[in-house]
Amino acid sequence: MTQAAPGKHYREGISIIELGEMFPTEKSAVKWFEKLVWADGRYCPRCGCTKTKKAAKTSGLPYYCTGCQQAFSVKIGTALERSKIPLRKWVFAIYLEMTNLKGVSSMKLHRDIKVTQKTAWFMLHRIREAWAGEAKALFEGPVEVDETYMGGKRKNMAKSKRKELTGRGPVGKTAVVGAKDRKTNQVAARVVQSTDAPTLQGFVEGVTSPDAKVYTDEARAYKGMDRDHESVNHSVGEYVREMAHTNGMESFWAMLKRGYQGVYHKISPKHLDRYVAEFAGRHNIREADTMRQMEAVVTRMVGKRIMYQDLTS
Ligand SMILES: [Zn+2]
Repeated sequence: MTQAAPGKHYREGISIIELGEMFPTEKSAVKWFEKLVWADGRYCPRCGCTKTKKAAKTSGLPYYCTGCQQAFSVKIGTALERSKIPLRKWVFAIYLEMTNLKGVSSMKLHRDIKVTQKTAWFMLHRIREAWAGEAKALFEGPVEVDETYMGGKRKNMAKSKRKELTGRGPVGKTAVVGAKDRKTNQVAARVVQSTDAPTLQGFVEGVTSPDAKVYTDEARAYKGMDRDHESVNHSVGEYVREMAHTNGMESFWAMLKRGYQGVYHKISPKHLDRYVAEFAGRHNIREADTMRQMEAVVTRMVGKRIMYQDLTS
């Protein structure tokens, strides 16, 4: 395998051998999950009660809630709730997913941790839930905003993109809009149903602070938005005019597309939004060391399930 020198994100990383030493047993993995999920003390994931104790061996689960009188484990109430996969395998799956810049395919995960490919596919989707609907602080700017198109076979995205801007979208492609805060290097991106002015401007206003400086290409859809806005005209070769460029966003799209082609091969429009959120999420914490990245994934997976319960209770 040819691979470039490890990137910056990898320097303070841990090797898979070290990971194996840190998690030699299922018990060690359970401990790690419990520490993250119950950082402020163990509580019942069903009723929130903190009066818990060790469960009777016969329950098959480690803890018992005296409030709702049910046994529970650390998996209950998280994205792993219905998973029968040992938590140790989850540790390795999260590690592989976070240390590969372009993500990991279900085929690779299937081989690496010895689960079926179908199970690997479900595991990766659950890990991706960690990034869904991530609430971010508004970008203070300067902010680059750009759109791209995913899917379909046509190689020349740039031309199809220009066509889209006159109102007719490329057939069979899904639009993705993104913003990057140049100061913090954070990215927000999502699939959009349309690239009309209300949609794109709504996105920009949703992720940027009202006084942020915003750079876009010359797309008509951005004209007149409620931000200090400057655009660059690609079609006349005006690619980089001082600060008015979207190169940061474009390199993010390039990474997203390399992942799409190299790892996932085919992403259905239905799942594309999760992949986009995953790429943005991984991008946003790539400066952190590997363990911090893995911890972030676990705590976000837990948060997701709690939100779901709040909505359905
Ligand atoms: Zn309870």
